[in-house]
Amino acid sequence: MRCPFCGNIDTQVKDSRPAEDHVSIRRRRFCPACGGRFTTYERVQLRDLVVIKTNGRREDFDRDKLERSIRIALQKRPIEPERMDQMISGIVRRLESMGETDIPSKQIGEIVMESLARIDTVAYVRFASVYKNFQAADDFDKFVSELRPETPPTK
Ligand SMILES: [Zn+2]
Repeated sequence: MRCPFCGNIDTQVKDSRPAEDHVSIRRRRFCPACGGRFTTYERVQLRDLVVIKTNGRREDFDRDKLERSIRIALQKRPIEPERMDQMISGIVRRLESMGETDIPSKQIGEIVMESLARIDTVAYVRFASVYKNFQAADDFDKFVSELRPETPPTK
C-alpha cells in the first residue's frame, strides 16, 4: 500500500483488527521512509455497483466519495467516527441488497438523507439543502465542494 504522504510503496502493517462488528478489518500502517502513519480498511464487496446520474451517465459507485460527503455533513457534529462508519456501511449494504446493480444517484441521495436524519438533524439539514440544489447539476464533486462549510451554497 502506497504511503499517502510521501508515495513510498513499501509500507508496513503495524496492527490489524476487526472493526464495525467484524464487517471490516482495520489496519494501521507505518511508512519507514517518512514516518507517516495511516489506516486502511478492508471490506467485502458484495458486488460492483454502478451509479446512474440524472443525465444518464454511469459511473462506478465510489464508497470514498459517499464517505466524503457524509463526513462533511457531519463536520463538528457530536457523532463518533465509529457511528459514522457504521452508518456508511449500512448505506452500502442497503444499496448492495437492492437487487439492482445500477442505482440512480437520486436514490442514493435519498438513502443518505434518511440515514442522516436518524442520527443527526443538523447534518441532515446540511446535506438536504445542498442536495436539493445539486440535483440539477448532478455532479458529485461539485456537490462535495458545495457541502464544505467555508463555501456555503449560493442560491
Ligand atoms: Zn511515507
